[in-house]
Amino acid sequence: MPHISATRYAVASCHVERPLDDRVWARFARLQAARPGGFRIAALMRPPDPAAGEDELRWLERARSAATRGPLGHHTHWTSPTHARPTGGDPGERVRGEGEWLRDRGLRPTLFCGGGWYLDESVARAVASLGYADCTATSFRPPYLEAGAPRLALGAPGRLALADGGELLELPTTHSLGMAARAALSIRGPTEPVVHVYFHDTDLLDRRRAAALRLALTVLGRRRTAIDLDKLAALPHRDVPIQDFVVALGQEPPVE
Ligand SMILES: [Zn+2]
Repeated sequence: MPHISATRYAVASCHVERPLDDRVWARFARLQAARPGGFRIAALMRPPDPAAGEDELRWLERARSAATRGPLGHHTHWTSPTHARPTGGDPGERVRGEGEWLRDRGLRPTLFCGGGWYLDESVARAVASLGYADCTATSFRPPYLEAGAPRLALGAPGRLALADGGELLELPTTHSLGMAARAALSIRGPTEPVVHVYFHDTDLLDRRRAAALRLALTVLGRRRTAIDLDKLAALPHRDVPIQDFVVALGQEPPVE
């Protein structure tokens, strides 16, 4: 089996924000089936929000079809379909509840990404207990986040030790669509050991953005070994140093 550091990999994921919007969904499904650059794009899907009256049956049908075309992941918006970060309650509980709902309906997501790149200890515990690998860490600073907003900065896949003894495999997101297009076309190419490109399903409504994404993935697929996030998670990560989650998150340990 190839070692993670021996090959320069690239993976791609989509934050599926509006799976119930027929136009958005059709474009995402088509792109996922087309595998630009040879990428099996992971669908990180936001579960239906009953408080917003979202149709669970149609959602499940679409999630099952996405899972036939690439890895399936779980994307949480804590506050509402259009407000990703939490504004109250126990963020981990929300993830656990959604994860159980997905499992009870026969879905087996393998990946997680927190909406608005939100991650804290309660969420990390829930994600690890659901057996997911996490993609919430970013190697870049999302421009819209306020200084000091909780987020995890990581440049390469890592293992994070949790206070309860659990461990979380982190597969950080490294490139937005624009960053991926620039890096793919640059002379040097991307320098990250593992390139993880993400985009939003709604990007596909914009012709220019959709074209830039296809081009970026096609070029990256030639310059890197295109694999999918499940295969990346399954590579041996034994030699990746284990970091303490709280330290990695840049927060002070909670005062008892
Ligand atoms: Zn989102």
